[in-house]
Amino acid sequence: MELKPGLSALVTGGGNGIGKALSLALAKKGIFVTVVDFSEEKGKEVASLVEKENAKFHSDLPFKSALFIKCDVTDSGKLSHAFKKHFETYGGLDICVNSAGVTTPPVPFHEDQPGSTNPWIKTINVNLIAVIDSTRLAIQTMRAAQKPGVIINLGSAAGLYPMLGDPIYSGSKGGVVMFTRSLTLLKREGIRANVLCPEFVQTELASVVASNIDQMGGWVPMEAVVKGAFELISDESKAGACMWITNRRGQEYWPTDMEEAKYRLASSKFRRQTSVLSQVNLHLPKSFEKVVVHTLSHNFRSATKIVRTPLSLPIKPGHVLVKVIYAGVNASDVNFSSGRYFSGSKNDLASTLPFDAGFEAVGIIAAIGESVNNLKVGTPAALMTFGGYAEFTLVNARHILPVARPDPEVVAMLTSGLTASIALEKAANMESGKVVLVTAAAGGTGQFAVQLAKLAGNKVVATCGGKEKAKALTDLGVDRVIDYKAEDIKTVLKNEYPKGVDIVYESVGGQMFDLCLNALAIYGKMIVIGMISQYQGEHGWKPLNYTGLCEKLLAKSQTVAGFFLVQYSNLWQQHLDKLFLLYSLGKLKVSLDPKNFVGLSSVADAVEYLHSGKSVGKVVVCIDPSFSQQVAKL
Ligand code: NAP
Repeated sequence: MELKPGLSALVTGGGNGIGKALSLALAKKGIFVTVVDFSEEKGKEVASLVEKENAKFHSDLPFKSALFIKCDVTDSGKLSHAFKKHFETYGGLDICVNSAGVTTPPVPFHEDQPGSTNPWIKTINVNLIAVIDSTRLAIQTMRAAQKPGVIINLGSAAGLYPMLGDPIYSGSKGGVVMFTRSLTLLKREGIRANVLCPEFVQTELASVVASNIDQMGGWVPMEAVVKGAFELISDESKAGACMWITNRRGQEYWPTDMEEAKYRLASSKFRRQTSVLSQVNLHLPKSFEKVVVHTLSHNFRSATKIVRTPLSLPIKPGHVLVKVIYAGVNASDVNFSSGRYFSGSKNDLASTLPFDAGFEAVGIIAAIGESVNNLKVGTPAALMTFGGYAEFTLVNARHILPVARPDPEVVAMLTSGLTASIALEKAANMESGKVVLVTAAAGGTGQFAVQLAKLAGNKVVATCGGKEKAKALTDLGVDRVIDYKAEDIKTVLKNEYPKGVDIVYESVGGQMFDLCLNALAIYGKMIVIGMISQYQGEHGWKPLNYTGLCEKLLAKSQTVAGFFLVQYSNLWQQHLDKLFLLYSLGKLKVSLDPKNFVGLSSVADAVEYLHSGKSVGKVVVCIDPSFSQQVAKL
């Protein structure tokens, strides 16, 4: 909603504090205001100031540009009269600000007050019940006017986290926050209700904390509150939004998208889409092709070959046959082909050859074995077991991850997306307000790490090699992109982040590891995701020595933690649902490398391409283009 002359607003508690500031700020935009307050003196004064401001925009109005209505907001009849009067005067209601509020007198709520009602009830009545009542009346008035409207309820930072000195106030404001956040659906009829939660603002209400305000983060300037309210009014996308304002962190929305994704059930939208693609022609051939590792080598091309294998029916009990449509390419494909990711001696490993290559894919269930009750032929499925580089693959039904669609974006969410999501949550314990550094950030997993760190409310620094990748990262919202082909990473980090970075999502290894370790702040955490620069040395992957590592960690209370996705399989489905939800809400982008790799014969090309350093986003092989076209149409 554009704040422009001729709109009208009703402000409860408009005679004082935040209500007064907002009444005057609205008047400065030429907006008519009804000031509702129980103090006649203060309310009238604000109304006359509003009129003065409004005179700059309007002349010869047939009505007063400001009204004052004396009203205790807990008196529902009088409050209703205020809305009625406003509607009669201005012919509608564009904005309603519910600012009237009180704190609880310093009497413990758990002690009875002889002969009188406990004072905490008044706090609940004014701060919560009256806000609900006033919101109700605002909705009715806006509906009657048949025009869009915005309601701003004043919560408080004490509604987001506990206020130990005044639990009743905190409880009432927590109620306002959750009440308002639950009004999102009103947007369907053009009414947006949002809640504003500033920390301490210098008003009469907050005078109780004045003596130790410095320890409490200092006063939040009134201008910040007005700016926040105006953003909630103007930004059409904000409905059920909660804005938190502090001096420490500025203006931010709570919960962050990442926090929200934790409790929002992916299910309704997700499950509706997890359909059975019954129209896909699932003809089962007598044999099919797959890529196998026939000799152990970090050179993927020479380690692998394509073989034809019979399709044996019926399917093993407890198993399903998946028709693979897209397979994901990973830096670690060369570690699997060299046997590096398997335990045991090289001789033991050699005896298991040949084994199936590829460890992630999406497709459609083509056949099911006995005793599989939860899956059907035609169900889109993802898998993270060996055998992804194949036209068909047999998978234990327990390892199937049902997905909404067998699309390439979903392949990207598997190893790459899940690594970022689970590593940042579990290994890095990522919170918000930190500086997060991501290396190889424009790659398969890096792209997810930068976005998830951003969604959690962090500053994100990302490294990459090349202009195209730098542009892609800027488009993903990265705060500082360091293209190491154009700038020296060490110099940038030293100059721009002198205190160091708090979290590093590191997947390059070698010199990059050392550089990141030196850039780590006190208490910093570096998560070792991989070491792609070492995988394909002349004689394969040779471990490095990190001289002085322990001393560095000790001196700054730092942590270096490893992360290997296979050890977190219990979290795969939950995090995949979260990623898919963020993606379907448009909050997470999935970048796919534009180079087309089609058919099993292109798998080795794709693996080499990923290691060439040229890829941007996730590298995916379309195993069967005829199927991908059929599915894309559904
Ligand atoms: P990717 O990031 O898409 O890999 C390609 C990027 O890595 C390149 O664009 C390049 O980026 C960088 N790179 C490639 N070769 C390099 C070299 N020799 N020296 C320096 N940089 C090089 O690949 P990914 O599959 O997503 O894997 C990224 C890393 O995450 C790998 O280390 C992988 O092993 C690891 N990973 C670990 C797990 C786990 O569970 N721990 C799971 C998935 C992936 P720039 O030149 O732009 O920096």
